[in-house]
Amino acid sequence: MRKVGIIGWRGMVGSVLMERMREENDFAGCEYTFFSTSQAGQDGPVIEGRTYTLQDGDNIDQLQSNDILLSCQGGGYTSKVYPELRKSGWQGYWIDAASTLRMEKDAIIVLDPVNRSVIDQGLATGIKNYIGGNCTVSLMLMGLAGLFEQGWIEWVTSQTYQAASGAGAKNMRELVNQMRIIGENCENLLDTPSTAILDIDRNVINTLRNPAFPTENFGAPLAASLIPWIDRAMDNGQTREEWKGISETNKILGREEKPVPIDGCCVRVSSMRCHSQAYTIKLNRDVPMADIEDAIKNQNDWVYLVANNKEETLKELTPTRVTGTLDIPVGRLRKMNLGPQYLSAFSVGDQLLWGAAEPVRRILQIILQHLGEQ
Ligand code: NAP
Repeated sequence: MRKVGIIGWRGMVGSVLMERMREENDFAGCEYTFFSTSQAGQDGPVIEGRTYTLQDGDNIDQLQSNDILLSCQGGGYTSKVYPELRKSGWQGYWIDAASTLRMEKDAIIVLDPVNRSVIDQGLATGIKNYIGGNCTVSLMLMGLAGLFEQGWIEWVTSQTYQAASGAGAKNMRELVNQMRIIGENCENLLDTPSTAILDIDRNVINTLRNPAFPTENFGAPLAASLIPWIDRAMDNGQTREEWKGISETNKILGREEKPVPIDGCCVRVSSMRCHSQAYTIKLNRDVPMADIEDAIKNQNDWVYLVANNKEETLKELTPTRVTGTLDIPVGRLRKMNLGPQYLSAFSVGDQLLWGAAEPVRRILQIILQHLGEQ
């Protein structure tokens, strides 16, 4: 029986992963060990009535007794533990949600509905590191991979509307707390129907600008506002989040030698866990809309088209609709006034599912299947 160790199972991504593994009955057929860096010896998850005792996530000897290790623990942990493990001679498979190893030559970024052939080639050639991609990149590819596969894309811009969850659990709490304070401060004005709207507006902006307004995690108000900066600065004026668009997409697609140009502005908005993106796509020829629609909707089992009208858009193409599901709706699809080769589209996806936990969950099953076939 294969031995699988999971580190980071109680964090935000790890919790979503555990939920999905339970739903898919993934815990059957393997021997699992759960690790923690702060709770070793305590009770861990209960699976099928069995309570697992947590092992020490920093203990290299215990870690290396596993055939596969899956970490949702974070980049700091990967940087510390992964090199030690390999130095100790461990030959197992390393699966990771953190970005640390993504661009390494001996690592594959996993999004199997899109790059199963790249993954299979990696397994066949002995690659041992399989890393989940950036959430925005994975969600864009789950929506648009059909167009990439057809070879129709000359370039893409993606203007993003990214959820608080991408910044972590503390940030999600801060967002809701900000919303509460805004609501509480203007409660009386709101309850009086005759209040002038500009008085409500003034009340809200005064709340946001009050130095006591809680912004420790985001660094600025997000509720009733937005933040057009995610991650750290790169030398070329992009943020790192924007840089991942071109670098990770082309690595996932296995076309680093001939990359498709991708760029855009990544913006944090006040949705909880769904990222949305507005695309401008330059096609390399005037492809008929029916062909474009077919290519998008037939690429995988989770993407679907939303009719470009108000009713369907409000019903299907929002974070409210998509949160907690694996659905990838693509809508607002139309040729642009810029010319028949310019396409506009909009997509939404749950960044904790396809953006984080699901590709990692699936690669574990793919590796187990590969080992079973050896
Ligand atoms: P997280 O919620 O901060 O969890 C990481 C670890 O923090 C846990 O495994 C746990 O480890 C420890 N922890 C301390 N206090 C905790 C508490 N009260 N509740 C739960 N855990 C607590 O991290 P995350 O947001 O899931 O991210 C994990 C990795 O995935 C990161 O590398 C991140 O960049 C990557 N990722 C995140 C997203 C996202 O949307 N957030 C998307 C894609 C990839 P111990 O048991 O060892 O204490």
